Amino acid sequence: MAFELPALPYGQSGLEPVMSEKTMGFHYGKHHQAYVNNLNSLIEGTRFANASLNDIVMESEGGIFNNAAQVWNHTFFFESVTPGGRGEPGEELARAIDRNFGSFEKFRDEFGKAGTTLFGSGWVWLVKNATGMLDIIQESNAGNPLRKGLTPVLTLDVWEHAYYLDYQNRRPDYIKAFWTIVDWQKVGNRYLQV
Ligand code: MN
Repeated sequence: MAFELPALPYGQSGLEPVMSEKTMGFHYGKHHQAYVNNLNSLIEGTRFANASLNDIVMESEGGIFNNAAQVWNHTFFFESVTPGGRGEPGEELARAIDRNFGSFEKFRDEFGKAGTTLFGSGWVWLVKNATGMLDIIQESNAGNPLRKGLTPVLTLDVWEHAYYLDYQNRRPDYIKAFWTIVDWQKVGNRYLQV
């Protein structure tokens, strides 16, 4: 069964002005869609033809991995945000953030720094390990923490296609604006999931 581009609950203009309709037209409408289309073509006639997206991300290499992981990562990223942001991290996640990073402010600084210092294209992730400890990791290109046995909690796309139309070279401004649209209710719930 072919993979499909998931609908955006807030539409392509819903994240204005943090991510403009023009940016989303390319980022979601062209890039995310292209990863879905490429994945569908690449898996045809392979052992991944009927596999789940998670299984493909975990087990594939090369072009199939790149496109499958980019489908997974973008879906997770676009689900991590909502117009105007929502809620607070929630008691459990807030406590884990304090325990692992010292404070929410320190966590945001560290996550932002990971975003600004990631060289080239990639993703910054807040992840949970098997014991519930949090960590911030950088992944290049299509990298996905599931491959390391880590549970993704939040991600930020720092590929240039994510921000260049709106922020040009000012990646730190894009990251600063990102915090205003994070759906903490969703992120907090992800932390609670095993
Ligand atoms: Mn992207």
